[in-house]
Amino acid sequence: MFGNLFIPERQADSIRDIDFTAEYESGFRAVIFDIDNTLVPHDAPATSETAEFFLMLRSIGFKTCLISNNHEERVKPFADTVDSLYLTDAKKPSRKSYRKAMKLLGTNLRNTLFVGDQLLTDVLGARRLGMHHIMVDPVDPESEPDHIKFKRVIERIMLFGRKIKRISKKDLKKREE
Ligand SMILES: [Mg+2]
Repeated sequence: MFGNLFIPERQADSIRDIDFTAEYESGFRAVIFDIDNTLVPHDAPATSETAEFFLMLRSIGFKTCLISNNHEERVKPFADTVDSLYLTDAKKPSRKSYRKAMKLLGTNLRNTLFVGDQLLTDVLGARRLGMHHIMVDPVDPESEPDHIKFKRVIERIMLFGRKIKRISKKDLKKREE
């Protein structure tokens, strides 16, 4: 009834399983990230590892932007630590912040990749706009407030039995060999 709106284009266990060099080679030039449970556990600060991850992305050639439904006081310190563009109060699945992020990045729907952990906000917003995206498993499901835990139940029901391309570490390893 809703077509593919609630089906992620690709899935990955985590951001570490995504081969960003291959994504760059396939034409992507910017990555837009959700923060909570995509990059770190819900409400956790950016660590030195997170900062290194963003350095790695920049060394490949990527520009980055964070879009979060969370507020300035949560998002700005995080963005400062990883040295990324950011947008707060994004109201995903609204398409507005995805569009605004592309404007900041100077990229378009062909060369911008979105990475997020929630079906009903992150994936739905990207789908509505037609933006390429990867849905990652939540970093720490236990860190989530109850209303998000409830949405996870709905996600599981909506994705039950669906065949979705899952990026695996094996692909990454194969490339490194
Ligand atoms: Mg999230």
